[in-house]
Amino acid sequence: MTDSSAAWFARAQQVIPGGVSSPVRAFRSVGGTPPYVASAHGATITDVEGKNYVDLVGAWGPAILGHAHPAVVAATQSAIADSFSFGAPCPPEVELAEEIVRRVGAVDRVRFTNSGTEAVMTALRLARAKSGRDVIVKFAGCYHGHADSMLVAAGSGVATLGLPDSPGVTEGTAKDTLTLDYGNIAALEALFAEHGDRIAAVITEAIPANMGVVPPPAGFNKAIRDLTTKHGAVMILDEVMTGFRVFRDGWWGIEGKAEGWSPDLFTFGKVIGGGMPLAAVAGSAEIMDLLAPAGPVYQAGTLSGNPTATTAGLVTLQHCTDDVYVHLNATATSVQAIITDALNAAGVPNSPQRAGNLFSWFFTNEPVHTYDEAKTQNTKAFGAFFHSMLENGVWLPPSAYEAWFVSAAHGERELEIISAAAPAAARAAASAHA
Ligand SMILES: *Cc1c(COP(=O)(O)O)cnc(C)c1O
Repeated sequence: MTDSSAAWFARAQQVIPGGVSSPVRAFRSVGGTPPYVASAHGATITDVEGKNYVDLVGAWGPAILGHAHPAVVAATQSAIADSFSFGAPCPPEVELAEEIVRRVGAVDRVRFTNSGTEAVMTALRLARAKSGRDVIVKFAGCYHGHADSMLVAAGSGVATLGLPDSPGVTEGTAKDTLTLDYGNIAALEALFAEHGDRIAAVITEAIPANMGVVPPPAGFNKAIRDLTTKHGAVMILDEVMTGFRVFRDGWWGIEGKAEGWSPDLFTFGKVIGGGMPLAAVAGSAEIMDLLAPAGPVYQAGTLSGNPTATTAGLVTLQHCTDDVYVHLNATATSVQAIITDALNAAGVPNSPQRAGNLFSWFFTNEPVHTYDEAKTQNTKAFGAFFHSMLENGVWLPPSAYEAWFVSAAHGERELEIISAAAPAAARAAASAHA
C-alpha cells in the first residue's frame, strides 16, 4: 500500500502545497488522484504501480524524441560525469546557441535561462529598456509563465485595464499589462491609436496552446508586427511551446519566414532543453546586445547555460531532423482522426483544433477563437473522457485547456492503444454531458 500513487499523493500533501510542484498536475480540474510516475521511455510512461500508459503529454512538450532517447541520455550522462554545472562559460552552451542561430534565421543572439518564465521576464525587461516605455500588451488566454506582470488575463471585449489574476500581484504591476481578446486586429489597432506612445511591447504565443489550441487567424501575427513597428514598440513572439516542436525553426519558420516578418524577440523553452530546465530569450543583435555585460540591462543566473542542460538540448535538437517533423505531423493527423471519429460516433459535441502538429479538442460544437469562447466548453465531459482514457492506458493532459503532444517515438502500436481506448471514453463523455 505504501507504494501506491494514492499513498504518495497523501504524503505529498503533507509537505508540498496541494501535493504538487506545478498546479495542473494535481488533477483538480478532472478530479481523482494523479498517478505517480516511476519512469518513461519512448512513448510510454510507467507509474509506481507498474501500469503503462501511451503518453500524449510529452512532459508538456520537451519529450519530442520520446522519453529517455538513448543518444540524449548518453551525451547528458557523459556531461554530468564532468560535473553538473561550472558557473563559468562552457562549449555546449556555445554549440547550442549556434544551432539555434542556424535554425532560426531571425536570431543573432541567444541568452539562456532556466525556465520559460525567466525568458519572458527578460524579454519584457529588454522591451521596456529599448522603448523607454512601460506598458505590455498581452492576449487573454495566452500563457507566458508565472511572472507577476503576465498573471493578468482577465479580459474580454475591448482592452481591459489589468486586474491581477492572482493574489500577491500588485495593482501597480497589473496596471502596466493591457489585455485584449485574441485574434482581434481592429481592437489592437484601436489600442495603439489611443495608447501607442505608452506601449513597450506586444507579447503573443506563436500559436496559443495554453487555453487549448487556437490557430492564429491568417495575418494576425503579421498585423502585430506591422503595428508594433509603426508605433515603435517591440514584438515578442513566445515560442516556448512551439519553438523546435512544430518545425525545425518553430512557428516563425512556418509563418513568419513565408510572410516576410520577424519579431524583435523570441522566447524558447520546453524542447530546447530536451527535458532539462532550460529556456532562452533570443533575437537580433541590436536588441539582445542591450543585455549585460554587452549592455546595461541586467540579467543573470547561477545555473544558466550549464553544461548538463545545454548538452541535453543540443543533442535533442540535433536529432530533430526534417523526418521527425514529417512524422509528428502524420501522427498528429492520425490521433486527431481517431479521437474525432470516436467523439462524433458517441454524439459528443466537440471542436477539434490544430495548428502545426499541436492539437486539442474543445468539448463544444463551435470552433473556438478566444478565451471567452474556450470557457463555454463542457469540462465535465472532458473529465469523464480523460479518466476513461487513463483507465485504458492513455495519458492525456489533465485539463480541457491544454494541447496534446506526440513524439518521434509514437508509432502504430501507440495508435492501436489509443484507438482501442477512444470509443469507451467517448461514451463516458456522452453520458457526462447528458
Ligand atoms: C510553458 C510556457 C511558458 C513558461 O515556461 P516555464 O518553463 O514553465 O516557466 C511560457 N510561455 C509559453 C507559451 C509556454 O507554453
